[in-house]
Formats: sequence, structure tokens, C-alpha cells
Amino acid sequence: MEDKIRRMFPDFKISTRAHIGCLLNQAIEQLRAPRYSSLIKHAFIKPGYIDQDYDEYQTPDHYCFNFSKIGARCEDNDCGKLAFIRCSWCEKFICFNHFIIKLHSCQIIIDCK
Ligand SMILES: [Zn+2]
Ligand SMILES: [Zn+2]
Repeated sequence: MEDKIRRMFPDFKISTRAHIGCLLNQAIEQLRAPRYSSLIKHAFIKPGYIDQDYDEYQTPDHYCFNFSKIGARCEDNDCGKLAFIRCSWCEKFICFNHFIIKLHSCQIIIDCK
């Protein structure tokens, strides 16, 4: 994510405290998505802490940034700017402004059955 920001949004200073906080918040929010539960499980199974099988998984880098829809546009409030990321929760394409500056956050309630 940092490389993409440095390349595409040079005016956004990654090294400031406030911006580091924004990036950490958004990265953690994305990692919490249920689609990465097998990835997190894998981190405990691979070194032998847990003896279990794990399902195939996608990494956040692959899901969020390597989307095949070239020219995807931001779906937040009919924005229409070029997409920066695909949200791991709502699966919407989101531009940099809506994802980082306006802190896109999904209000999806997880059904814990
Ligand atoms: Zn979302
Ligand atoms: Zn947008």
C-alpha cells in the first residue's frame, strides 16, 4: 500500500504521525475481514503451534490491489474517481480520497453463528 501511495499520491506525506495512524487503521481494518481468517490461521499452523488443516486463502495484497477490473471506479457515493483499493469487507472499489482521507469503514455486522 505504501509503495502505491508514494507512486500515485506524492503529496500525501506518509511519514507524518497522522498519516501513519490513518494507514495503520485502514490496514488493520482490512485484515479483520472474514476472508482472511484462513490466512491468519495459517500463521499459527505453519510453525506448528496448531495441528490443523487450513483452507486456501487470498492475501490482502492480492485481493485489495491486484484486481482484474482495469479502470475500476470508486463506488463510494457515486464518486467515480479511479479506484485505489477494493475493500475486503464490502467488496466495493474505493478511491484514495474515500479510503484513506475520509477513512472508509464498513458497518457490516458479522453473523456469528
Ligand atoms: Zn468497505
Ligand atoms: Zn471516491
